[in-house]
Amino acid sequence: MAHKVEEYTQFVSDTEMCELYKAARRLYGTRVVHTNSSYYGGGVAEILSALVPLMNDIGIMTGWRLLRGSPDFFDITKKFHNALQGDSVNLTEMKKKIYVQTNVDFATYNHINHDCVIVHDPQPLPSIKFYRKTQPWIWRVHIDLSKPDETLWDFLKHYVLKYDVLIVSSEKYIRRDLPLEQRVIHPAIDPLDPKNIFLDEKTIDKYLKKFRIPTDKPLICQISRFDKWKDPEGVVKVFKIIKEKIDCRLVLCGSMATDDPESYQTFERLRKNTNHLTKNGDIILITSENNILVNALQRTAAVIIQKSLREGFGLTVTEALWKEKPVVASKVGGIQLQIKDGENGFLVAPDDTHAFADKIIEILKTPKLGVMLGKKGKQDVKKKFLITRLLRDYIDLIHELVHA
Ligand code: UDP
Repeated sequence: MAHKVEEYTQFVSDTEMCELYKAARRLYGTRVVHTNSSYYGGGVAEILSALVPLMNDIGIMTGWRLLRGSPDFFDITKKFHNALQGDSVNLTEMKKKIYVQTNVDFATYNHINHDCVIVHDPQPLPSIKFYRKTQPWIWRVHIDLSKPDETLWDFLKHYVLKYDVLIVSSEKYIRRDLPLEQRVIHPAIDPLDPKNIFLDEKTIDKYLKKFRIPTDKPLICQISRFDKWKDPEGVVKVFKIIKEKIDCRLVLCGSMATDDPESYQTFERLRKNTNHLTKNGDIILITSENNILVNALQRTAAVIIQKSLREGFGLTVTEALWKEKPVVASKVGGIQLQIKDGENGFLVAPDDTHAFADKIIEILKTPKLGVMLGKKGKQDVKKKFLITRLLRDYIDLIHELVHA
């Protein structure tokens, strides 16, 4: 559901609200378009669903275009996504051709007459080359760019150089090899999204029952796409160690993004490997796309685990902190921007299965600790990671590029 900016007065001060309206006044009539490749599943879709309506409500004429691609195209862009995060890729001429041609096709029917274009992630990156460029273009990349496959990066760089600004999620992702202007903007969550709104006990119970999730034992949850970088198999290993000491259940909840063809294989492998544990109910695997269920799970969990091997930012961490939940997460990428070890959660080396288990056991045995971490977590999100702050960042950047 699209929200209006005024509904956010409950989360931001009057002064901030006034400043937001004032900043947006400079952009009345400005036409902006966002492009990405998925309407749901994953953090980018999540952010755009909240941001695009708010940009319109505040007076910026903002569109949202979706790059259409074949399964082959998404196979390739997933490989690119993995390679940008450190995997290697066999960059064949065929892969390049399908990747570029999909963007050529998109540019032929996706007419742009906007004052500013914002392209998200690698899928629509090359499209810039197939327009007569008459406005600023921003490439907003949500993944960790610090160690990309060099061959792929050299190939993509030709497109990146044509952009006016590159936005990344962390200082650490700034590319020293790019003469291009680069900015850091942290992602954010929408507190009014059904995924983040307050839920009463009755609604939580209803959803947990509907998805057959018992609450007789403490729940440990990871909410994440079934993706090898989210390390669901690693989470199961952690769970097995915990389970020897404390009786609890593990819930792994992950939607399948339309632009992520690997998720089905990752899920199937996990399902086979956990067969005996899912049969007796120790582990519950969920693939339904349901925002209120995610909300209910995050609110019910005794501990949220995020055992990512790479993580551009990690909105699931933000969402859990917002719900005052203790989070035990990998010390990687954007998670480190959100969790201060021991203050609002715990950070653990991604491959240290035992340390993950120890921290979770500590929280399960000391409920007061979980409450303390959770309280601090919510305050931090309120200060830094709500959608109103992201809206303000975009307003300022667009103003600077279009009108300065
Ligand atoms: N998500 C969801 N259902 C699921 C799994 C994930 O709605 O079953 C959402 C999650 O709540 C978060 C987003 O997808 O809002 C994932 O964003 P994140 O930055 O954590 O990771 P990404 O998927 O972008 O790598």
